[in-house]
Amino acid sequence: MNSSAAIRPSVHGLRKAARRHLWMHFAPLGAAGGDAPVIVRGEGCHVWDDEGRRYLDGLSSLFCVNAGHGRGELGDAAAAQARELGYATLWGSAHPRAIELAERIAGLAPTGLERVFFTSGGSESVESALKLARAYHRARGEPARTKVIARELAYHGTTMGALSLTGLESIRTDFAPLVPGVTHVPATWSYGQPAGADPLAPAHAIEAAIVAEGPATVAAVILEPVQNSGGCLVPPPGYFDEVRSICDRHGVLLISDDTICSWGRLGTWFGAQRFDYVPDIITTAKGLTSAYAPMGAMIVSDRVAGPFESGETVFAHGLTFGGHPIAAAVALRNLELLEQEDLLGRVRAHEPALQATLDGLRDLPLVGDVRGAGYFWGIELVRDAVAARRFEPGEARDLVAWLGSALFDSGLLCRAADRGYPVIQLAPPLIAGPEEFAAIEGILRRVLAEAGDRFLP
Ligand code: PLP
Repeated sequence: MNSSAAIRPSVHGLRKAARRHLWMHFAPLGAAGGDAPVIVRGEGCHVWDDEGRRYLDGLSSLFCVNAGHGRGELGDAAAAQARELGYATLWGSAHPRAIELAERIAGLAPTGLERVFFTSGGSESVESALKLARAYHRARGEPARTKVIARELAYHGTTMGALSLTGLESIRTDFAPLVPGVTHVPATWSYGQPAGADPLAPAHAIEAAIVAEGPATVAAVILEPVQNSGGCLVPPPGYFDEVRSICDRHGVLLISDDTICSWGRLGTWFGAQRFDYVPDIITTAKGLTSAYAPMGAMIVSDRVAGPFESGETVFAHGLTFGGHPIAAAVALRNLELLEQEDLLGRVRAHEPALQATLDGLRDLPLVGDVRGAGYFWGIELVRDAVAARRFEPGEARDLVAWLGSALFDSGLLCRAADRGYPVIQLAPPLIAGPEEFAAIEGILRRVLAEAGDRFLP
């Protein structure tokens, strides 16, 4: 037995060791959390746990394994890069993979977004965008522009700046005081609105917030193309046109947080291409490497990069692992796979089938709404679908807790979330197709029917 095997717990000891030593994320600590399932292997659209049970990965694990599991090509790219150059910084010098990847990303991004600043994940990308927005305005002689408009319920990450933009009270309260100057406005809405409600009201709310704060103090608006929290909130037609005009009118930057909505998730490289708008900054991560290596990026327009090009003003910001050569090599190979296998085209071709499959669940009494785009869908669960009546918060919590384990026990990885109201979210790997959709539907139908029996009068 070699020394690393000697100190590694046996498979049977893993759950015990996790209870004692592993601090899991957004999870109760140690014994309070019970035995955590341990995922040990993945292949295609499936993963297996340490007891040999197979799960259909209906969430690309965390909206990120876009090319699917078990991609040896990505491992090979990492190994080759480790042999050639395991690490080099982007602090004053560069290395080939970061340069190639930056050029590649700029070629895929909307016109005018040419500069790529690498990070290690989504929170760091958002944090970087928040700092860049402030630094940009300061460099142009408007240092008072520090505030940001974000949306209620939206999740933008957990580092202090990104958390301050996040509109979920439940994960903010313990960490106050947060970064000041963030105003949250309503997200786009599709379900349960009174007839005749103006679908663009959420865009107008952004302008009202900018005006109320004082336009000369607002640095940026940050929005996801399709908002994850709240259950895949799709913008109504015209929303991003309107937001773009509002930002231009008031000299405010538009940041598109594409941490989830890029790299084919919506059938396009970026959300901007799906909804036809051009942001000033895009933040991304997750599917950039199909999650085979931690990597994020902030993609910046030439206009926003402008003040930093003279050499007089430097963006005083950096990260040891930003643009890591191994992550960059994996990202390059991943983008090659997405292209070679036309996974973006596949998403566009199969989106109607996925939607139709999920729409088919509307006959279940719990299902109030089905919404989404590409391979990113939410099912909102309600007390009374006909009257569009929602669950009370306590009921919603119990329902979501029950569903979370019931779906997992049924072999489906998806998200049962109670961020505002109960939703189930699906974001299968981009290699998924009708066979996986049918399996997802089968499990959801059975579990949701049982949930209806348990939680509806
Ligand atoms: N922004 C959005 C829209 C996200 O969905 C996430 C994570 O889910 C983040 C930021 C934070 O990303 P990370 O967990 O990689 O820090």
